[in-house]
Amino acid sequence: MTIYLDHAATTPLDPGVLATMLPYLEAEHGNPSSSHRAGRAARAAVEQAREQVATALGVAPLDVVFTSGGTESDNAAIKGTAWAARTAGRGNHLVTTAIEHHAVLETVQWLADHQGFELTVVPVQPDGVVDADRLLDAVHDDTVLVSVMAANNEIGTVQPLEVIGPALAGRRVPLHTDAVQAFGRTHLDVAGWSLSALSLSAHKINGPKGVGVWVQARDVPAQSLLHGGGQERGIRSGTFNTAGIVGCGAAVELAAQTMDVEVPRLRWLRDRLLSGLLAVDGVGLNGHAERRLPHNANVAVDSCNGEALLFALDMAGVAASAGSACQSGAAAASHVLSAIDAPADKAHLRLTCGRTTTQADIDTAVEVFGDCVKRLRDAGGGYL
Ligand code: PLP
Repeated sequence: MTIYLDHAATTPLDPGVLATMLPYLEAEHGNPSSSHRAGRAARAAVEQAREQVATALGVAPLDVVFTSGGTESDNAAIKGTAWAARTAGRGNHLVTTAIEHHAVLETVQWLADHQGFELTVVPVQPDGVVDADRLLDAVHDDTVLVSVMAANNEIGTVQPLEVIGPALAGRRVPLHTDAVQAFGRTHLDVAGWSLSALSLSAHKINGPKGVGVWVQARDVPAQSLLHGGGQERGIRSGTFNTAGIVGCGAAVELAAQTMDVEVPRLRWLRDRLLSGLLAVDGVGLNGHAERRLPHNANVAVDSCNGEALLFALDMAGVAASAGSACQSGAAAASHVLSAIDAPADKAHLRLTCGRTTTQADIDTAVEVFGDCVKRLRDAGGGYL
């Protein structure tokens, strides 16, 4: 049986969440935009999911837009806000950090390369935390949006939005955060941090794949990526993914309601995992020791080939990741590891716990890790 320690890549669908979805995959097939009974029933389910998300985040239901996932939410929030601001003559400058997910970095880069936006990508410190003063110094009169992730997907670093948010609010600059990894695992304060936009993805919190949330405050205009039937305040057209949205609402509610128990449990498991990994000679921590998500362990391993280690773990029944999911197995260092100057001659391994992780999983994984590292090193560090 596989010990799955890759919950930052995706999580298993919670059985209770699946149960809420099934009626909308079977009998309740109405289009939520139809006015007949079947349509109204589906619409009520969508609106209930919207309420669940709004309650969990402390935002108005009208600010909640359902999308196809974190990637679309990031694209919609950033392009939408940037286009609307430029149309209104408010400016042309975007600010972000070097360790954002590709869904943010590629989006701002595309706006710079193809649409003439000015872009500042602020580096992070060696522990993966962005220096708030340095980020705020990059903001000027022409800045129309700042995008800073709440927490990083590879090294788990939690960014200082509690400092950045209020400072930007004082300068009336909108702030978007990619909270795809952070939601349910660390405190988010949408109002206190004056967030104008936020992205979530259901499959990272035991919900279904292909559905997410884009929170866009109504007082910060956004142009639409998708034109069509005018659903979702006219800023996200397309027939509602009823079952997915219902599952997303249930997953968000589950994550929010179980945080008090789940976060300390995850932290305990992760700390046990980390102390086991770090007990092996030549293994060090990547990222900040305290400002990090409770489920994330990311380590650098001396004298080991990264791909070989990942493969050996997989063969021994432990699913881990070399960086973010799309980079697993890739030889090149990820942009996040490069941004924190992680040495390229070490193996870098991300192990992330989740709702289904047990103490026995952790203890076995630690044993398997020690054994794989030893076997690789005995074989000269390369392939077994
Ligand atoms: N943002 C972050 C921080 C992520 O970790 C991911 C997924 O890996 C995404 C965005 C993209 O989300 P989705 O897979 O729902 O498109």
